[in-house]
Amino acid sequence: MPPSCTHLDSIKVRELPDEIAGCEDCLATGGTWLHLRMCQTCGHIGCCDSSPNRHASKHAAEHDHPIARSAEPGENWSWCYVDEVAFVLRG
Ligand SMILES: [Zn+2]
Ligand SMILES: [Zn+2]
Ligand SMILES: [Zn+2]
Repeated sequence: MPPSCTHLDSIKVRELPDEIAGCEDCLATGGTWLHLRMCQTCGHIGCCDSSPNRHASKHAAEHDHPIARSAEPGENWSWCYVDEVAFVLRG
């Protein structure tokens, strides 16, 4: 476990859903995105910080949900928006 992240108990959702339509907020507003992140507290799908609207980090700040994981195929790393640290969950 990463010693620099103190928010691991906020993780409620570990696995990606079977189907991901895209960034929920971009789909609602007609925006576009580059990469997708899934909030590990509530499962919200948002777009990464390289996307124009950065919905994943906005979601993390607005809802106090600090950790999101990559929702890209083959990627399993998580990111804490508070500690700004990346890690891979095991077990
Ligand atoms: Zn943290
Ligand atoms: Zn978005
Ligand atoms: Zn969330």
